[in-house]
Amino acid sequence: MTDTATLPPPTDRAAPKISFVSLGCPKALVDSERIITRLRAEGYELSRSHQGADLVLVNTCGFLDSAKAESLAAIGDALKENGRVIVTGCMGAEPDQIRAAHPSVLAITGPQQYESVLAAVHEAAPPKHDPFLDLVPPQGIKLTPRHYAYLKISEGCNNRCTFCIIPKLRGDLVSRPLGEVMREAEKLVAAGVKELLVVSQDTSAYGIDVKYAESQWRDRSWRTKFLDLAQALGELGVWVRMQYVYPYPHVDEVIPLMAEGKILPYIDIPFQHAHPDVLRRMKRPAHQEKTVERIRRWREICPDLTIRSTFIVGFPGETEKEFEFLLDWLDEVGLDRVGCFKYEPVAGATSNALEGQVPPEVMERRWHRFMKKQAEISARRLKRKVGTRQQVLVDEVGPTVVRARSKGDAPEIDGSVFIHTRRKLAVGELVTVKIDRAGDYDLFASL
Ligand code: SF4
Repeated sequence: MTDTATLPPPTDRAAPKISFVSLGCPKALVDSERIITRLRAEGYELSRSHQGADLVLVNTCGFLDSAKAESLAAIGDALKENGRVIVTGCMGAEPDQIRAAHPSVLAITGPQQYESVLAAVHEAAPPKHDPFLDLVPPQGIKLTPRHYAYLKISEGCNNRCTFCIIPKLRGDLVSRPLGEVMREAEKLVAAGVKELLVVSQDTSAYGIDVKYAESQWRDRSWRTKFLDLAQALGELGVWVRMQYVYPYPHVDEVIPLMAEGKILPYIDIPFQHAHPDVLRRMKRPAHQEKTVERIRRWREICPDLTIRSTFIVGFPGETEKEFEFLLDWLDEVGLDRVGCFKYEPVAGATSNALEGQVPPEVMERRWHRFMKKQAEISARRLKRKVGTRQQVLVDEVGPTVVRARSKGDAPEIDGSVFIHTRRKLAVGELVTVKIDRAGDYDLFASL
């Protein structure tokens, strides 16, 4: 994902101008927003292009080798177009690789090293102090559209999935106190945000590192805990979407809040596989054989629940039998939204040493079989919505077609609801529509 920021026109041309490239996942996007907020507060301007900027800042993603290649290409483009480049983000944890490809970058800092990246910017393009320019909206600068925003609740991860190097890059779990998260959420809502997307590496583990320490918000004390966070966010009166949740037993407690409409009936659980032996080789957290039964109970409590997940096919040692188990499991569980990746060895991941690497052509075939199966399941699940009335949030307005999302669609990763209408709707508006038709991934509706 790449995002460029949209900001009000500059008022003082003499202020240093930064061109910003943000690559990677929503968590990286939140980091970008924080860095930009700080830079704006110090009087920097954002440039819409690399040319003419005093400096280019590239926030990289280093999760997969393909993401690293994308990051290196973005750095290369920035050097070509501007020549003065600072690199930060996940890939910054591996400076040698960056220097080998692009020796002329000015500085490299790692993920969440806000102070270091700001220090590097100060050195390369010293800030111009101006009390008027130093003003920044209290809610900060957001790269995401005004009507939705990501809310990052923690950094790092205590799990050690064998295919993942995030804990090496970002360290162990560090949860933000609930009060601090809620104050940020309140500011976003006050600034017009209609949907908050809760992100972290492992949202359901929130607060484990601080032993669920109590923290003050409004007139009471709350535990820094997944359930309390869901309850508190449910008081804000906006859409609240939970992402990257693992099926720990305590997740069951949050499902009734979804049924009551306090938070969205949507849960994003990156299962990655279904076969117990593959999950063991992956060292996935909270994997257990009773998942099918739990999902069935969740849907009894909250029939509108949308479950999204991601999977990896071709993980080392994955046999045809294990893969078929996964296909059967998908059929049985009937997940609503699913993404699928072909296994990619990431430098530094322990899964590289596992036996039985799956040949690329086998992986490719499995990926197509998986996608075909899931397209059928997704179409089946979506068809159930035809004829119902759904509340949707407007994302984009065209002359005759409006693109919106239902409660079951997260921005950027899920499908859309297309509304044919000449009525003037506004971006960020909540409207109720009638679902007329369903495709494999999208819905078509009228007012
Ligand atoms: S839960 Fe696993 S995949 Fe996710 S960040 Fe932690 S170690 Fe990586």
